[in-house]
Amino acid sequence: MTELVDKLADLTALRDRDALDIALVSTINDLVQPRTVAICRVVGDAGNERWLTTAQMGASQLAPTSDSAWSKLDLLPKLAAHPLREQAVASRQVTQTDGETSVTVFPLTGNPGASGVLEIVTNEALTAQSHILLSGVLRLYLNFQNLLDYGERDALTELLNRKTFDGAFLKATIEQNLAVVNSQDDRRNMTHAIGSYWLAMLDIDHFKRVNDNYGHLIGDEVLLLLARLMRACFRFHDQLYRFGGEEFVVLMRCNGESEAAGALERLRTTTEKHLFPQVGHISISIGFSEVKTGDTPSGAFERADKAVYYAKEHGRNQVCSYAGLIARGELVEQAVNVGDMELF
Ligand code: GH3
Ligand code: MG
Ligand code: MG
Repeated sequence: MTELVDKLADLTALRDRDALDIALVSTINDLVQPRTVAICRVVGDAGNERWLTTAQMGASQLAPTSDSAWSKLDLLPKLAAHPLREQAVASRQVTQTDGETSVTVFPLTGNPGASGVLEIVTNEALTAQSHILLSGVLRLYLNFQNLLDYGERDALTELLNRKTFDGAFLKATIEQNLAVVNSQDDRRNMTHAIGSYWLAMLDIDHFKRVNDNYGHLIGDEVLLLLARLMRACFRFHDQLYRFGGEEFVVLMRCNGESEAAGALERLRTTTEKHLFPQVGHISISIGFSEVKTGDTPSGAFERADKAVYYAKEHGRNQVCSYAGLIARGELVEQAVNVGDMELF
């Protein structure tokens, strides 16, 4: 019992979701000694949803493992491949089958687009007492996750807030370097999509007019609806932020500039076509830049910001690439000091 309390105390000291899932799986592994225990999340667009395993542990494993957050969607199992999990998510009830082994699935629900399950495979059905214990641990985990969400997400749009950006940026760039190393070492790891990170800033055009003409509340509704369009346009692993006001940021991983430009262009045209209640049509201006090795968040921002500024100055409602503007001579590259090095 003291061991469990200790583990739960350690769990609630974490601030990183991936580490939290790993710690939960490890705690449950110690509690019920299952054959396997896993946390699986539903990712992908409606109609093509898949299971991403964020933490899993088997009886013979010393430490939990997980799918890469940048796994290729098409290589992950389809929702229908695991009907018991699917049923647990849909019904929000614990589901269970007893055959040669017993599979128990607890639903995990969270912020929009974050449903998932905890799946436990045991040799014999879990006892009523284990059920009660596991339900208690899960309640604590979910409450703690909600608390993290509360601090990390913007209340209006439920996108990530500015506070969490720097940490995510650093983690992403470290992961990127590791992914490149791993892919060179291990060609079998086919779920790893090698690409680079891209930072995009987007700003609604003439948003002041929306507020002036229709009031702040309708303005807020436009922000909320735009956040929804963003969620629908980007992939599950792209990170979407509201940076305050009517400015949004996307940190995404793409294979090259044209893929990044394509995703952003898709959002621009979707927004342009969307009919916002009362307001009608709006447009957005987007600037983006590749995240470079040794980049700081402010360095990457400055480049994306310059590209947005250019878009605003040249007719709005367009996507501008910083590198493209430099190449065409529309912008002049400036030296940035990083520590003692001078980078371009
Ligand atoms: P531009 O095309 O140059 O970007 O024009 P703009 O009017 O969008 O530009 P500006 O950045 O000057 O104005 C942003 C406006 O966004 C100012 C303010 O009225 C509005 N705004 C900022 N935060 C919020 C918010 O939380 N809710 C609402 N409804 N409006 C906001
Ligand atoms: Mg603005
Ligand atoms: Mg604006």
